[in-house]
Amino acid sequence: MSTHDRVPEVYAKLGVKPIINAQSWITMLGGSLMRPEVLRAMDEAATAFVDLADLTRAGGQVVARATGAEAGLVVAGASAGNVLMAAAALTGTDRAKVDQLPDTTGMTSEILMFKGGRNSYDKSFITTGATIVEFGSMGGAQAYHLEAAINENTAALAWVVAPFQNYPFPLEQGIEIAHAHNIPVIVDAAAEVPPADNLTRFIKMGADLVTYSGGKGIGGPQNAGLLAGKKELIDAAFLHMFNLGSGTVGIGRPSKVTKETLVGMTTALELFVESDHEATWAGWRDQANHIVGRLKNIPGLHVVLEDGDINRQGPQAVIYQEDDWRGPSFEDVRQQLTDGDPSIRVGGGGYKGEINVVMVNVQPGEEVIIADRLEDILRG
Ligand SMILES: *Cc1c(COP(=O)(O)O)cnc(C)c1O
Repeated sequence: MSTHDRVPEVYAKLGVKPIINAQSWITMLGGSLMRPEVLRAMDEAATAFVDLADLTRAGGQVVARATGAEAGLVVAGASAGNVLMAAAALTGTDRAKVDQLPDTTGMTSEILMFKGGRNSYDKSFITTGATIVEFGSMGGAQAYHLEAAINENTAALAWVVAPFQNYPFPLEQGIEIAHAHNIPVIVDAAAEVPPADNLTRFIKMGADLVTYSGGKGIGGPQNAGLLAGKKELIDAAFLHMFNLGSGTVGIGRPSKVTKETLVGMTTALELFVESDHEATWAGWRDQANHIVGRLKNIPGLHVVLEDGDINRQGPQAVIYQEDDWRGPSFEDVRQQLTDGDPSIRVGGGGYKGEINVVMVNVQPGEEVIIADRLEDILRG
């Protein structure tokens, strides 16, 4: 039934208990589970030596095909992708510049970001030596604010696409303005897949580089990610990872992945692209509906299925509190779920401080355990 009938030996040995992850592809909760085909591919990759540069180029072609980009790379996660996107924008394929980072003397080194689009992950841009220059205010911006922020020191426009990250104008418009000034646009879309369309969406719009986490919705190794985009910029990112023949190790070195991870990632990506996305989605919807059905008619609560909202990752059972709710605070409810056995992690916050029970990582049968516990706590 669920994974909790049996604690995997490797975790038991370390004294760490598995949890039920109803909070999405949260890195701190383990990302996602890899399919058996992915694990088998990784095992097989571990049985032979290959030239890592050759393998990286070949893996890059798989990424390029899946994203519709000119070129691609498998990298060590979306944060690594962020570092490489910024580094590539600063140096291009100029080997002397690649060697020189994080010293940016003599290079354009400002990365523009909408002030309200700053994100806890954007520090990876500045580890390259770049500085982030904001345009607009927390509340908004007009296209002319972006236009006015561009100067001779601008290296890139960066855009973070994430839940509850609201931009005042569309990415297409940002791309149009940046490109009119010959400035590349780099996009962090780490957790935006699925929907599968998002693999090709930003490249189609004209983004120069886009990165995705491999171990979130794509189901690859958690220490892998994708980088896709223009050939020259991908070549630059490759130099930062390996800088072959220069005698120095570039700042992109921590972005490289092992042969096993690379093969796991490309296998997961191909399986993801070919998979029946509607069937997967329908399965999540059924699980969410189970929970919604079990939590009907609790005074003071409004429990609904949310499916397709841009800020929600897949179908979710969302629990809203009304004015006449007399039960425990939602913070307390989440804590009780966390403290139980098995520990159940659900999402919070969102639009109105609601509880969201996210299905994308809930294993078959676990929705029953979650509903049982929620009923205990909320009907209590
Ligand atoms: C998860 C996430 C990252 C980091 O991704 P990793 O693959 O864990 O490195 C970066 N940016 C955003 C918006 C994310 O959601």
